[in-house]
Amino acid sequence: MSKLILVPTPIGNLRDITYRAVEILGSVDLILAEDTREAKKLLNHYNIKTPLQSHHMFNEHKSVESVCTKILSGQTIALISDAGTPGISDPGFLLVRTCVEKEIEVETLPGPTALIPALVNSGLPCDRFCFEGFLPPKKGRNKRITALTDETRTMIFYESPYRLVKTLNELALHFGPDREASVSRELSKLFEENIRGTLLFLSEYYLNKPPKGEIVIIVSGRK
Ligand code: SAM
Repeated sequence: MSKLILVPTPIGNLRDITYRAVEILGSVDLILAEDTREAKKLLNHYNIKTPLQSHHMFNEHKSVESVCTKILSGQTIALISDAGTPGISDPGFLLVRTCVEKEIEVETLPGPTALIPALVNSGLPCDRFCFEGFLPPKKGRNKRITALTDETRTMIFYESPYRLVKTLNELALHFGPDREASVSRELSKLFEENIRGTLLFLSEYYLNKPPKGEIVIIVSGRK
């Protein structure tokens, strides 16, 4: 039966993809990709020749209906994002939701995502955690951090290198400078770095050594 399949792709190291993901990407009728040029790098690496169509936050509202029509007419379609799991701070939610409403089968493969290795590697409790994604850059930012003041679960944030120090300082202001945290940078890549310490220590560390690349911040919950 035709369906939508969400396929996680590597967050850095191209070898971090499952055998099943490669098989599926090679056998579906169409791959929807956030950025077709990025997707081609992965598909060429695995010699996958499946047709590609772009599906990103600027066209997904327009294209979901036609994608659903294609699946209902018998095509099986895979969705990938630039990196990691589609739907996790990436396009995916709208299409999955629309498929569910239309009773189209949706399958999601287990696979790469940045939040889980960063969490497990932090040494902070990972039995209960909450994923906050990117904090809003301006409007609603303070409100969102304030709402987390009493959070007892380990918190996970995605962040850009340009805002890392600002965010660490704001988190220290709300949660206290001694709150335990960890910053994972460039996971699975050549210059992977995992630095653990208090929010104050981490903010000073990155003030002296401005970071580059992709970043996940893990913060301990309130004791
Ligand atoms: N869909 C992706 C996932 O499943 O993790 C997330 C996509 S989001 C647009 C990109 C953000 O994820 C980056 O800004 C960074 O916060 C995090 N990220 C992605 N790859 C990473 C890596 N290799 N190391 C650290 N963080 C990463």
